[in-house]
Amino acid sequence: MKIVIIGAGAMGCRFGLALKSAGADVILFDVWQEHVDAINKGLKVIRNGKEELVNIPATSDIKSVGAVDLVMIFTKAMHTESALKTSLEIMGADTPVVTLQNGLGSLSIIERYVGKERTIAGITNYQSDLVGPGIISFGEDRPVFYAKLKALDVKSASAASELCELLRSAGMNCEISDDILKQIWEKLAFNNAMNMITALIKQRDGVVCKSQFGFELSAQIAREVTAVGVAEGVNIDYDSVVATFGNIKESTHIPSMLQDVVLQRPTEVDAICGAVIEKAGTYGIETPTLKAMYSLIKMLEDNYETQVTQLN
Ligand code: NAD
Repeated sequence: MKIVIIGAGAMGCRFGLALKSAGADVILFDVWQEHVDAINKGLKVIRNGKEELVNIPATSDIKSVGAVDLVMIFTKAMHTESALKTSLEIMGADTPVVTLQNGLGSLSIIERYVGKERTIAGITNYQSDLVGPGIISFGEDRPVFYAKLKALDVKSASAASELCELLRSAGMNCEISDDILKQIWEKLAFNNAMNMITALIKQRDGVVCKSQFGFELSAQIAREVTAVGVAEGVNIDYDSVVATFGNIKESTHIPSMLQDVVLQRPTEVDAICGAVIEKAGTYGIETPTLKAMYSLIKMLEDNYETQVTQLN
């Protein structure tokens, strides 16, 4: 299977690495030239603290990719549309497109551009950090990590199965979901709860979950997201979302929104929180906690340059 990964950052490289190790013909595409050049000299993978150099071809010239069997979008949510537009020129009339990105929006953008028949929806809680150009780092795989996906139409079902099988061959825990919207919304509730708090207090996720204040605030955020998901007709299990907070008390992961804030980059707050607030409005559901968190993150990311870091 020839697969192009559009957006070869922390997760794009990690999944590219897995798919290549399973025998797929993988090409990484990214608009960041310095990163592409570094990957072409050997992608440095720091796995559990151990370094290895892996050869995976990377490019910033979409034409050089040629025809592919599958397109995987792994940009941040706010870049999905431009990434997709770029990749349209290498897609055939039936080429499936998969997203495992966080937040709402990427899925509907993909559906809008290529149709339900070619869209594979998914979600993952595998983790990866982009350390610098051509360098990714991740820790030990744990049984709680998963990738779940589902073709929105039977026409792409065999591509989804083949992709899932490749990820399993690479040792990843992948399954075809029987209710992918439930999985996406439960991850969305988790991301709303964990990403914004960690980004605001600049602490790892375990710190939030160990704190009674952090736990209660996370639970309130998850409650508001659940109410919106239920109004959308999604069968979210609030208790299982809250149970995950208890399971990660010892985690030292730096959620991607905190990574963005530390590196003073735009965050995915619109796709993760703003989209839920917008949907809540259409159902007349009050989301005061989400609105407060959203405003705080927006103020933070709009004013990185004037942050107070010392007293003079
Ligand atoms: P990242 O910032 O590390 O990588 C994104 C890459 O996309 C960058 O290399 C960037 O140059 C590239 N890009 C931007 N615009 C592009 C375009 N138009 N065309 C091609 N490439 C473009 O992001 P990430 O951490 O890998 O996250 C990707 C997605 O996965 C996000 O939705 C995130 O929430 C989700 N996710 C991340 C993690 C994690 O641990 N990092 C875990 C689960 C889910």
